[in-house]
Amino acid sequence: MIEEVEAHARIAATTATGGEEWTGLEGLRGRYLRGEVRAGVALPGFDQSAMDGYALRWRDLEAGRGTLRVVGVSAAGGAARRELGEGECVRILTGAPMPPGADTVVMQEDVRREGDRIALACAAQRGEWVRKAGEIVCRGQLLLGGGELLGSAAVGLLASQGCHGARVGRRPTVAVVTTGDELVEVAGDGREPGAALRGGEIFNSNGPMLAAAVARFGGHCVARLHAPDELSATVAVLSEALAVAEVVVVAGGVSVGDRDFVRPALEVCAAREEFWRVRIQPGKPLLYATADGGRQVFGLPGNPVSALTCCTVFVAPALRLRAGAAEPVREGQRQVEIGERLENGGSRPHYLRGRLDEEGRFRLVGKQVSHSLLGAARASHLLRLDAGATCEVGERSWALELP
Ligand code: AMP
Ligand code: MG
Repeated sequence: MIEEVEAHARIAATTATGGEEWTGLEGLRGRYLRGEVRAGVALPGFDQSAMDGYALRWRDLEAGRGTLRVVGVSAAGGAARRELGEGECVRILTGAPMPPGADTVVMQEDVRREGDRIALACAAQRGEWVRKAGEIVCRGQLLLGGGELLGSAAVGLLASQGCHGARVGRRPTVAVVTTGDELVEVAGDGREPGAALRGGEIFNSNGPMLAAAVARFGGHCVARLHAPDELSATVAVLSEALAVAEVVVVAGGVSVGDRDFVRPALEVCAAREEFWRVRIQPGKPLLYATADGGRQVFGLPGNPVSALTCCTVFVAPALRLRAGAAEPVREGQRQVEIGERLENGGSRPHYLRGRLDEEGRFRLVGKQVSHSLLGAARASHLLRLDAGATCEVGERSWALELP
């Protein structure tokens, strides 16, 4: 059995950043940028009004003019027209170009208008309500750095620059493999769910759960396979998984039971075992192996909460790194305040399932057992508590976001 830090180090040492591809705007959210993006156009691109109001020359106000004559309208999308003369102003709308000569906008709420004349109802400030060309972004400015996770706003920022896509890390291909004779695939055939189960059978929950988690962590699930508890069948399924995916996430069959065939099957598949068993709870039976071509196999314990915990703690950083993340480990981690006293009387670090209450404080959810997803399904974070450690209310600790 190895320590968790060593497991992380071995995984990191055998995980390489994957390739890259060009992706259109609609596919960019959740992807990692490759290389930096610099501004091709200034923002704003021209001097414009920040309000609905009147564009005027400050010096006319300074000269003590009580009223100004409205000589035209500048609306968003229209080109700026002739230069403003003495005592003139232009009705202007938000985002519209400032007419040449104008340097100040007064809000329409601060103006009394009679016919084609306006009088200011309160004092204006020189240059107010004008967005100057390039004041937010100038050409060549760094907008987004390499390895950054693109969110919706980044997609909008790229669009505001006229980019119709960007180069991003290719999502690693992943095969999710489940094992076990007791498992029944959810059929969705309209039958009463229980009717599909015979004695001793359970529905396959890890398969759909891990496929969902993999997608959340930046992977592209290309296969969902299942192996019965038999060596040659496990070899066949794992070979197929290794043939179609860069990362294989297999659940169950990695323990010390008579019917746990993943370890011997991986040996037949020429995968090299990097480690087996890590000192954590849940998740002790975790197996990690590598194969030629930079392929990786994560053998997760079969108990669903253990599988999800290991996927979040160990598989996620590897997938993010392959997908091009600059901070694969830090991502998904956050500091939380403890909302109830936590204690780990065990001999292994414990990943506790909980959620943040209205004050953002971590509270446990459900029974902390590894065979039931009832609590985990309502939990938002995993909180790691060292062996023998306690955490008092109000203390801060790191937590991992559940997928
Ligand atoms: P194993 O690691 O194969 O011994 O499995 C440990 C426990 O997890 C057993 O109770 C299995 O029935 C359960 N289990 C394994 N795989 C799955 C799965 N895909 N969905 C739900 N439970 C599972
Ligand atoms: Mg099993």
